[in-house]
Amino acid sequence: MHLSTKYLAVAGMFLAAAAVGLLKNTDTPGADLHSDTALHPAPQSISIDTPDVLGVDTFSHDEFRTTIQETVLPGLIYLRLPPPITNNSDTDERIIRAAKTRGYRLQGVANSLLDSVDNEFLHPDAAQAWTLMKESALRENVELVLKSGYRSVEQQRELFLGRLSSIVGSVTNTSFPDWAIDAVLATASPPGFSRHHSGFTIDIADQSQPNFDLSAGYEWMSANNFESAKMFGFMPSYPTDTAAQGPNPESWEFVWVGKNATFSRPNRSDEVIRHD
Ligand SMILES: [Zn+2]
Repeated sequence: MHLSTKYLAVAGMFLAAAAVGLLKNTDTPGADLHSDTALHPAPQSISIDTPDVLGVDTFSHDEFRTTIQETVLPGLIYLRLPPPITNNSDTDERIIRAAKTRGYRLQGVANSLLDSVDNEFLHPDAAQAWTLMKESALRENVELVLKSGYRSVEQQRELFLGRLSSIVGSVTNTSFPDWAIDAVLATASPPGFSRHHSGFTIDIADQSQPNFDLSAGYEWMSANNFESAKMFGFMPSYPTDTAAQGPNPESWEFVWVGKNATFSRPNRSDEVIRHD
């Protein structure tokens, strides 16, 4: 992903080896704790408090995009072809071509049981992470609200067609002009191309500020390279300043990719500290 990952992965192995060595010593009554320091150096020589080693990783906005694209999430099936949109194949082709030019890609669609949370459906991993993140924000007086979770391909089709029809002013004429297609693609995915199909993607709001970009909620989520989001395994879905990613930037959308993706390495700090 980027250069620091390799270094941090090695640091993780180093800490794991040290932890195993310490465990062995505690299992052996009377063992000389200092006899094999070459195999596992004294714990205080490991800078376990260094945020770079134990904390969440740092990502450029393009790295958020590629990490979300490359992270394999459970319980998804992948469409081989874009689903129909307008029942007019020429129009559909123009929509798909324009969407791909903007950076839209076909997305995984949830194919496992989803949990109901805050009147939305999410994959259980994302639902639990969302709840914990919401509670953490609330402890700092930030009231985050879940606005949208899982969306089926058919729901996205209705949403996309509704936007197109409202721009053109007709629900019957399906030969939508390119300018209308481009206008809708700036803010809405065609069916099959929405990250909401996965059950891992959330739209959130801040109760106290309708414009999420200006809200305390966004400040809380995005501060320090989206540290709060990453602490719970979330990444910004469509951040600013990225290469073609589909829609215009969306400050309110986040994708759960898991802590294995957001943290520098598996978080084993508690074990190591206990054995000190
Ligand atoms: Zn969204």
